[in-house]
Amino acid sequence: MDKELLKILACPKCKSEVEQEEDKIVCKNPLCGLKYPIRDGIPIMLIDEAEK
Ligand SMILES: [Zn+2]
Repeated sequence: MDKELLKILACPKCKSEVEQEEDKIVCKNPLCGLKYPIRDGIPIMLIDEAEK
């Protein structure tokens, strides 16, 4: 995925930075740690779609 896009993404729950981990976007905040799915190359940054 585009590294520039990753930079502008933030966790919608805690506003922390995120990083890509295989096929997921993972919140870097260890107290949050939500994982957001990537579908068709597009990160789904929705709390409802995230998993812990
Ligand atoms: Zn978070």
